[in-house]
Amino acid sequence: MAQAHLEKRSDLDYVRAHPMATKLPTPPRVGMVSLGCPKNLVDSERILTQLRADGYQMSPDYAGADVVLVNTCGFLDSAKEESLEAIGEAIKENGRVIVTGCMGKEAEAIRTRFPDVLAITGAHEYEQVVEAVHAAAPANLSPYIDLIPDAGLKLTPRHYSYLKISEGCNHRCSFCIIPSLRGDLVSRRPDAILREAEKLVAAGTRELLVISQDTSAYGIDIRKEPRMWKGQEVVPHMTDLARELGKIAPWVRLHYVYPYPHVDQVIPLMAEGLVLPYLDIPFQHAAPSVLRRMKRPGNDAKVLQRIHQWRDICPDIAIRSTFVVGFPGETEEDFEYLLDWLDEAQLDRVGAFRFEPVEGAAANALPDHVPEEVKEERYARIMEKTAAISAAKLAAKVGCTLPVIIDAVDEEGGATGRSQADAPEIDGEVFLRDAGHLSVGDIVKVEIEDADEHDLYGVPVTGNA
Ligand code: SF4
Repeated sequence: MAQAHLEKRSDLDYVRAHPMATKLPTPPRVGMVSLGCPKNLVDSERILTQLRADGYQMSPDYAGADVVLVNTCGFLDSAKEESLEAIGEAIKENGRVIVTGCMGKEAEAIRTRFPDVLAITGAHEYEQVVEAVHAAAPANLSPYIDLIPDAGLKLTPRHYSYLKISEGCNHRCSFCIIPSLRGDLVSRRPDAILREAEKLVAAGTRELLVISQDTSAYGIDIRKEPRMWKGQEVVPHMTDLARELGKIAPWVRLHYVYPYPHVDQVIPLMAEGLVLPYLDIPFQHAAPSVLRRMKRPGNDAKVLQRIHQWRDICPDIAIRSTFVVGFPGETEEDFEYLLDWLDEAQLDRVGAFRFEPVEGAAANALPDHVPEEVKEERYARIMEKTAAISAAKLAAKVGCTLPVIIDAVDEEGGATGRSQADAPEIDGEVFLRDAGHLSVGDIVKVEIEDADEHDLYGVPVTGNA
């Protein structure tokens, strides 16, 4: 205890002495009053799940909420009156109120009685109500604690959905503050995850993006608690969960997987087409001494060999990763080791970050911080290297026919989509010509005609993918 206290003190001292240390934003809080039938409750859960994924916290009372949602029932006159009373109470106690649910059909009546209501949306209008919350209390998504990319803050369209399978993390990477904010790993029950996946697919989701702090650790805290799903036991383990999810949604994409040995078991599911041939593995570095100081999990010297084995089993697998440059103590030799490793690994997608001391992270107290100009120079070098690898890999796809999910259709007859190798917001896109007949969420075959460093260009061919 004393030791932990001392470490905290030294971090605080570091932050005080280094005013540049990144301060974390406070998440906005949402209150919810849910009225009516179980279906309305399911809608409320879905809205809150999306808001949690977008970086909001829930408030158990009016006073602590930045905005209050009232999910109304309009089935009977008595239910309508109860809904109006609930709106009135929320206005009186908090003042910032959004109304959703069945009474959304009677927006005029609500506005006449409560002109201060911020927004009114109808039943099952998940996107609109979440959008209204974003407008009323903008989320402060932080790249240091949130799993969804900044750009993901825009409303998640119905055709893809993030599915959170656990919260917290058992690791203690020295640059990360997640465990101190969110605690150790807590896995969700597999049957609850699968039920949510089914609901999402029933509501129009075609691609599930599985997220957590450490997807490969899923279930280690509830390992002995299999649950019944469709008459069979499902073990809380990444491979079993991925297999079941693959039966529910057309596309299932796994994010934040660490290269533990059992990750090898998920590759055959990709080769079978049950799970997308895509692995998002945040390696963060390759040099053994840097990884040791980062205290990274799955720090395996044989990881390059395993990447080659994965490609033998599933040649189409796309591997995405992120790397930190300029971590304290990173020498020029360490950095060159990383560049050589990237040459060998030939990763498909790479994001890079310059090390920043985040308030409260243990790495802040490490010696030998790298000067900013050196970080900049290394960042430019890693981006140049990874862009060249990406360009060569994408050029090799020209002439191939690939399945593409459609994200947007424009008025000029074009469309924008993503291949199986592209997660929304963080990877590349596929720009289509002669695609005005397509709809958002379609999964179609596309002949690739051109490529650049990050994106592909093509034309749909007849027949569904
Ligand atoms: S694995 Fe490391 S970086 Fe990821 S959440 Fe856990 S402590 Fe943070």
